[in-house]
Amino acid sequence: MDGRNKDNRGLILILSSPSGAGKTTLSRLLLQRHTQLSLSISATTRPQRPGEVDGKDYHFVTKDAFATMIHNQALMEYATVFGNQYGTPRAPVEAVLAAGGDMLFDIDWQGAQQIKLSARKDMVSVFILPPSMEELGRRLIARQTDDLDVIQKRMDGARQEISHWAEYDYVIVNQDIHQSLDQISAIMTAEKLRRSRQANLPDFIRGLLEG
Ligand code: 5GP
Repeated sequence: MDGRNKDNRGLILILSSPSGAGKTTLSRLLLQRHTQLSLSISATTRPQRPGEVDGKDYHFVTKDAFATMIHNQALMEYATVFGNQYGTPRAPVEAVLAAGGDMLFDIDWQGAQQIKLSARKDMVSVFILPPSMEELGRRLIARQTDDLDVIQKRMDGARQEISHWAEYDYVIVNQDIHQSLDQISAIMTAEKLRRSRQANLPDFIRGLLEG
């Protein structure tokens, strides 16, 4: 499905959740379903995990390179998460939105707060909750990508991340990945139908009434 309409500016769709709530899988399925949706690839100073691809999962950069990006105002937002820096490169987002495409951001609450200040009109934010903390722990262990002490850090971080749920436009409990996918798709459809986002509506109405 290609919902691109070059007359309308695209959406910034922010998905936040504690790690292990299913956000990565949901993002992948959303990108498959909505061809007008592109993923914003963050820059990070976090070490690359096995299986991750530089330039696809993240732009893996040094602390110096990250500091230069901040200095050059090349990041739309940035934050420290679990001791590593993460940030959203500005240029690709501007290009996609201006062409009427939508941009998916997988960022934390700190990033969502910054985008709210700089691009509120473009942004729709969705918070994804796990069905239970037990399930969250199970998913983190099943992933087997992190050491046990990192998993413990992420469980502690999860409580902090969840405490920001009320700052989001929409909240989803991810019990079933396909149901969550349908719910996020419904949010995108509704948000695109907002009067304020349909740039060619006044012309259409004029033609409708005159025609
Ligand atoms: P991970 O290290 O598991 O890939 O990501 C850890 C956390 O960092 C996740 O909650 C993710 O949403 C967040 N994150 C990833 N990229 C960015 C970014 O560019 N900005 C912000 N603020 N958070 C990010």
